[in-house]
Amino acid sequence: MSKGKLFVISGASGVGKSTVLAEVMAKRKDLKFSVSATTRKPRPGEIDGVHYYFVTREQFQGMIDRDEFIEYDVHMGNCYGTPIGQLEEKLASGSVILDIEPVGAFNVQAKRPDAVLIFIAPPSREELEQRLRGRGDTSEEQMCIRLDRANWEMEQAKRYDHIVINEQVETCAQKILHIIAEQADK
Ligand code: 5GP
Repeated sequence: MSKGKLFVISGASGVGKSTVLAEVMAKRKDLKFSVSATTRKPRPGEIDGVHYYFVTREQFQGMIDRDEFIEYDVHMGNCYGTPIGQLEEKLASGSVILDIEPVGAFNVQAKRPDAVLIFIAPPSREELEQRLRGRGDTSEEQMCIRLDRANWEMEQAKRYDHIVINEQVETCAQKILHIIAEQADK
C-alpha cells in the first residue's frame, strides 16, 4: 500500500532542475528521491546508488526482461529507467520525487494517474538558449541537438499538472514546495 504521493518533476535541459531539486529536498527531508538506473557514465561527484544506479547495457536489458521498471526510455543515446522495487518501498513510507524526462513522466502517469506532474520551465526560450550555450562544452552540432530537444521538452509542458518558471532558484523551489505541501499533506 502506498502511503505517500508521487511527484514527477521534469524540465528542459539547461533549466537548472538539479539545483532547484536539491533546494526542495533540503527543505523537505521527509521526501524521498527515486534512484534511476542508467547506462550513462557517472559524472564527477556522482555516487552509485545515490544519484543513479550505474549499470551496463546488458544489466539494463536484464532489468527490462525481468519487468523491473515502471518506465524506461533512451535519452541522448543512454538508457534511463525507474526501478519499480525501490519506488514502491519508498512510497510505502512517504512521498517520492522522480526526476525524469517527459516520455518517462507520461508513462508513469499512465500507470499511476494520481501522480502529480510538475514541469520546470525557463523564463524564456532565449534565456534557455543562453544557459545552454553558457556551458560552452559542446560543438555547434551538439548544441543544435540540445536546443531541439529542449524545444521539444518545452512543448510537453502543457501536459503537466503544474508549470513552474525558474527565474530564481529559491522562488522556484518555494513554489514546488507549496504544490507538494498542498498535495502530500492533505
Ligand atoms: P542526466 O544524464 O543529465 O542525469 O539526465 C538526463 C535526463 O534523463 C534528465 O532529463 C533526467 O530527468 C532524465 N532521467 C533521469 N532518470 C530517468 C529515468 O529513470 N527515466 C526517464 N525516462 N528519464 C530519466
